[in-house]
Amino acid sequence: MKNILFVTSEAAPFIKTGGLADVAGSLPKCFNKEEFDCRVILPKYQCMSEEWKNQLKYVTHFYMNLSWRSQYVGILELEYDGVHFYFIDNEYYFSGPKPYGNIYQDIEKFAFFSKAALSALPSIGFRPDIVHCHDWETGLIPVMLKDKFQEGEFYRGIKSVITIHNLKFQGVWDVKTVRDITGLPAYYFTPDKLEAYGDANYLKGGIVYADAITTVSDTYAEEIKMPFYGERLDGLMRARSNDLRGIVNGIDYEVWNPETDPLIEHHYTAKNFRKEKIKNKRALQRELGLEQNDSSFMVGIVSRLTDQKGFDLIAYMMDEMCQNDLQIVVLGTGEEKYEDMFRHFAWKYQGKVSANIFYSEALSHKVYAACDAFLMPSLFEPCGLSQIISLRYGTVPVVRETGGLKDTVQPYNEYESTGTGFSFANYNAHEMYNTLKYAMSIYYNKKREWNKIIDRGMAVDFSWNSSARKYEEMYNWLLGC
Ligand code: ADP
Repeated sequence: MKNILFVTSEAAPFIKTGGLADVAGSLPKCFNKEEFDCRVILPKYQCMSEEWKNQLKYVTHFYMNLSWRSQYVGILELEYDGVHFYFIDNEYYFSGPKPYGNIYQDIEKFAFFSKAALSALPSIGFRPDIVHCHDWETGLIPVMLKDKFQEGEFYRGIKSVITIHNLKFQGVWDVKTVRDITGLPAYYFTPDKLEAYGDANYLKGGIVYADAITTVSDTYAEEIKMPFYGERLDGLMRARSNDLRGIVNGIDYEVWNPETDPLIEHHYTAKNFRKEKIKNKRALQRELGLEQNDSSFMVGIVSRLTDQKGFDLIAYMMDEMCQNDLQIVVLGTGEEKYEDMFRHFAWKYQGKVSANIFYSEALSHKVYAACDAFLMPSLFEPCGLSQIISLRYGTVPVVRETGGLKDTVQPYNEYESTGTGFSFANYNAHEMYNTLKYAMSIYYNKKREWNKIIDRGMAVDFSWNSSARKYEEMYNWLLGC
């Protein structure tokens, strides 16, 4: 049996702010249980719902030194869906209203979490062969594993992997403070190790010290070796390219299943969506106060409202888009300028645009089920889950060809009758608009073709099956099996 430990700052269904939670929550149960014992460790945030907090069982606690500080580390446990989840408890660090707060607080919070996660292992009685880290929040772990932890028999020889879910977020703060927080010696703070451009950089530390690096799509793995997508670490990505691989994310096929989804009103399948899917559209139009119109082309957006997701292109084209016979349903939170932009257009085009500026798992399922198309013109997109969920729900994605969007959406080709969605290459508002208009023309004028696009999209397998095998291969390679 090979032991794998996921260390992550979020995991669905316990706590989620983005795609990382979906991955950390759904991948561990997909490994071959005969061969791998994969467990997950994450913070016990105060802002987790009571439903989950009440189910956690106390395991033990101890005090741990973090540089000159001595901090309480509580350990709680829950077995969920056949997977062991461990939660690190510390009210000083984890009591904020959201998992992430100010970066200077998060820098200390996740140094604590990283060290606590490793320190907790002997008391849990689980010695991983591989610690699998995710994003900058756990970037210090490969560094710590190579540092003090090597002195203990228990930790010696443990391998580490880091998965980059988004290279933009690196956990950067000044060297002096980070040295004070972590207690790591000056040795580590040079440009070939933890330091980048004069500051300490957690993600960089993880990338330098991990035994293997993965990111969440093939295209993104190539893109981040170039300056445009490399977020100033492209040189490092090139240097480590032999140990870097892209493994595309899957989605949880039990959670995201239009045939059984308890959060949608009308269930449907790849066979009967032509008749049944529309009922979800009617229900959503009613719920959100949109015009009751079966034929209106309904476009969905479920997203963090940030520049990364291409909202400046959408902002630029909103007025023009709304001159067409379409409806736009937005669900998201993020930058104020985009929240206000959508509120404004919902006011200006009542019955046509619906702005839902909040987070709601339930509404997200309804949007995926109800819409005809899903718009995602990202500037960059490591993998993207929303377009994959859309494909599963028979909602045709309209995307920019970058990162995982390029790898998961095959552009419609009207001459060969192939493709699962629509895409455009350049980060340009009119290119996006023309592509959306092209999609709309197929929807209105060639309905049979449109439905065949849906047929093909719903037939593609985006469950974890094939990607989980790729992670297993990598683990075996690392362990020399
Ligand atoms: P990212 O990780 O960059 O935010 P992804 O597409 O990988 O983007 O994952 C986003 C996930 O978060 C999807 O499951 C999407 O449905 C969900 N999501 C984003 N915003 C909201 C929201 N306001 N309400 C509910 N779910 C949301």
